[in-house]
Amino acid sequence: MSWLPLANNAAEWRTSAAHLLTSSMGAPYTIVMRILLIEDEEAIREVIKRGLEEERIYSVETAADGVTGLRLASEGEFALIILDIMLPKLDGWRVCEELRARRDATPVLMLTARDAVRDRVRGLDIGADDYLTKPFDFEELLARVRALLRRDKKNKSRVMHIAHLEIDTGEHRVVCAGQEVMLTPREYALLETLAMHEGRIVSRDTIQYRVWNNEECSSNTVDVYVSALRRKIEACSPVRLIHTVYGLGYSLKPPLAEETT
Ligand code: CA
Repeated sequence: MSWLPLANNAAEWRTSAAHLLTSSMGAPYTIVMRILLIEDEEAIREVIKRGLEEERIYSVETAADGVTGLRLASEGEFALIILDIMLPKLDGWRVCEELRARRDATPVLMLTARDAVRDRVRGLDIGADDYLTKPFDFEELLARVRALLRRDKKNKSRVMHIAHLEIDTGEHRVVCAGQEVMLTPREYALLETLAMHEGRIVSRDTIQYRVWNNEECSSNTVDVYVSALRRKIEACSPVRLIHTVYGLGYSLKPPLAEETT
């Protein structure tokens, strides 16, 4: 354990000890994964949304046509897209093709009413990751969602490098300039959220949504957590990484080359 040398005062030590306690008891929260569901049949849309949200680790946004779905997909960060084929305005094939043309690699699970091999092959050819034939068992949908998210996590690099920071998203471990930084689970979730949007502004709303899972949380709470996180990171980073963007939110970015000289 290398956390003791980092605990440079009593308060810090208590935070580290509290972190160890919560870690050993299991994380008291989970990072919510956002899923986009593009499906025009309201009844199916509602069943899938409700079923997934009952798992308490997914939050589902919905679109009832292809154009709206594509717009939401390009505006938000989704862990997975569930995409019906027969859709008004723009069908599922075109939505998927357009996503891949935009180099959007979000996993896509296609829903098809047809069981034709040709349709399934076409879906996989244009970049869908898996398909499910309607009518389907909800448990099967859940299993496929889990499998796709697992596969995607494995495909993505587990360790993010930003300036002097190394963030291991599998182990939830953070190293800064060679020193391990002890973060509480929420501080870690906050850092990961900022790191996933490196260089971009993350609003307090997005932070509340991802880190507090829409629990009661004031924007002041977010500010307090950001300050604590910044203090811990800057204790070992030679440069400022977490920036406040007045009126908009926060941004994690390394300084430009000329700023470090
Ligand atoms: Ca449909």
